[in-house]
Amino acid sequence: MQIPFVDLKTQYLNIKEEIDSEIQDVLDNTAFILGKKVEAFEENFAKLCDAKFCVGVNNGTSALRLALLALDIKPGDEVITTPSTFIATAEAISHVGATPVFVDIDEKTFTIDPNKIEEKITEKTKAIIPVHLYGQPCDMDPIMEIARKHGLKVVEDAAQAHNATYKDKKAGSIGDVNCFSFYPGKNLGAYGEAGAVCTNSEELARKIVLLRQHGELEKYNHEIIGDNCRIAAIQAAVLGVKLKHLESWTEQRRKNAQLYNELLENTELTLPFEAPYAKHVYHVYCIRAKNRDKLREYLEKNGVASGIHYPIPVHLLKAYSFMGLKEGSFPASEQAAKEIVSLPMYPELSEEQIRYVVDKVNEFLKDN
Ligand SMILES: *Cc1c(COP(=O)(O)O)cnc(C)c1O
Repeated sequence: MQIPFVDLKTQYLNIKEEIDSEIQDVLDNTAFILGKKVEAFEENFAKLCDAKFCVGVNNGTSALRLALLALDIKPGDEVITTPSTFIATAEAISHVGATPVFVDIDEKTFTIDPNKIEEKITEKTKAIIPVHLYGQPCDMDPIMEIARKHGLKVVEDAAQAHNATYKDKKAGSIGDVNCFSFYPGKNLGAYGEAGAVCTNSEELARKIVLLRQHGELEKYNHEIIGDNCRIAAIQAAVLGVKLKHLESWTEQRRKNAQLYNELLENTELTLPFEAPYAKHVYHVYCIRAKNRDKLREYLEKNGVASGIHYPIPVHLLKAYSFMGLKEGSFPASEQAAKEIVSLPMYPELSEEQIRYVVDKVNEFLKDN
């Protein structure tokens, strides 16, 4: 059996008719950028997130950068986040000229440890970016409380957490400005690059709209220096179709995770921990294994793809070596990076496929 890490082909074939007809519609109208499809998607995605406003952009990295620009984060400012994330979170901070200040993760949830935030706050701190890693929302109540106490803004990096909930709130509805990626492999994925910013603030939404398109609301009337971060209509059309399936796909991911959990329960592996406050949407099914690299090799030999999210914590990447943060700075993030392995996870994964993956994992564990 061959089990891919994600299977976008099977998903496309399941919704081919709807997708093809929506894309054809864009072609027939030759309105390729922003426009009606984008507005319709923004409205529907805002609804899903319980946010008042959604602004579609060209990718998740831009979403984060525009969010920080809209919040007036400037050179010299500090923004708190974790080193256990995709580099884009830190890049967005760096690109507005601010400095990322890292806080270690909670080892069980892989998300920012709220107890370690306050010790990193200085006069320069302006914002916190909690990353809902793997599809599990961070513990947002203490984060929001710390932010309020110190006058900081909160930008949720919800790139992996579409449709996740924290207590009774949707991921992406809690912080001041919240960011999503629709990279094809994300839980809600376009057929190209796309992203979105959600907020309840009309003022911030307006700023993002300005920044997205050269600082203009009206053609050639440029109010501020903006950028070109527009979303393509074809992507909004695809996302509009997929959004209707997101709830059932989310439930299927959760069911698949549940089955993995049941079948792997009595092994030496550390399985994902779903915090009591969270509805985890399993963008990634991440386990910890002592012999992680050998396990991956064995799986690969047997046709099972796997991943590591992420192999090097951001502070140890060459790109951030200038900060001088050495090994040992963030023990929980560093330990996780050595042990984590992500097993195949997507809504269309069948029970038979999951059982095959688990059989191969067990075969490996028996001999190692
Ligand atoms: C995917 C991702 C991003 C960046 O999104 P792009 O659409 O690829 O630019 C940012 N943060 C996290 C946590 C991500 O997983």
